[in-house]
Amino acid sequence: MNLLADRVQALQERIRQACETHGREVRSVELLPVSKRQPSSLIRSAAELGFRTFGENYVQEGSTKAQELPDLRFVLIGPLQRNKAKPALEHFQEIMTLDRPELAARLAHLAEELNLERHVWLQVDLWGEETKMGGCSASGIEAIVQALAGTPRLTLAGFMAIPPPGDAAAFGNLSRLREEWQQRLGMALRLSMGMSDDLEEAIAAGSDQVRIGTAFFGSRY
Ligand SMILES: *Cc1c(COP(=O)(O)O)cnc(C)c1O
Repeated sequence: MNLLADRVQALQERIRQACETHGREVRSVELLPVSKRQPSSLIRSAAELGFRTFGENYVQEGSTKAQELPDLRFVLIGPLQRNKAKPALEHFQEIMTLDRPELAARLAHLAEELNLERHVWLQVDLWGEETKMGGCSASGIEAIVQALAGTPRLTLAGFMAIPPPGDAAAFGNLSRLREEWQQRLGMALRLSMGMSDDLEEAIAAGSDQVRIGTAFFGSRY
């Protein structure tokens, strides 16, 4: 009996089922395991199941794991403070929580200095005061996109969001926002939304990536 393998298999079955229900290809939905507050040994076991990229919330914790597991990729899904921008760029392959123009400028400057190329995602928050999880408003997107323009080292990959639990309209609103910006920029943008409790709704609304912690690894320490 392998607990992790069983849990992951059940999770993949949920994703497959949701894709089938909504007429989507299973491979159009990426499963990003979220390994915050999980030990490196468990991440290693997940790697043995074929997973290569892991989401981490804290720069310090993620950097330590990235150094312990140098063959794996880590992406930052937690809030980024300006003073942590350098270690974040050094240890994470993607920054998924870019939410203000000053941070974009800082990352662009550092990426040049460190000679690194990274994908960045804009974290959007259409719910304002309700969540306080970081993220820019819909009207704040433009300034960040402008701050990224002319910085070839940072590639805009898409939008990431953490809608409040139980907000049935949220995923559809995010999906429309993504469409609108794809049109405006004339490029494909990915959409990362959906977690352990709401991945089905997110897939129904067109999510390209679900970020799964507890349903993948079990409860966190
Ligand atoms: C913790 C976390 C997740 C995973 O949450 P689960 O409910 O454990 O699946 C996904 N995205 C972000 C931004 C997180 O902080």
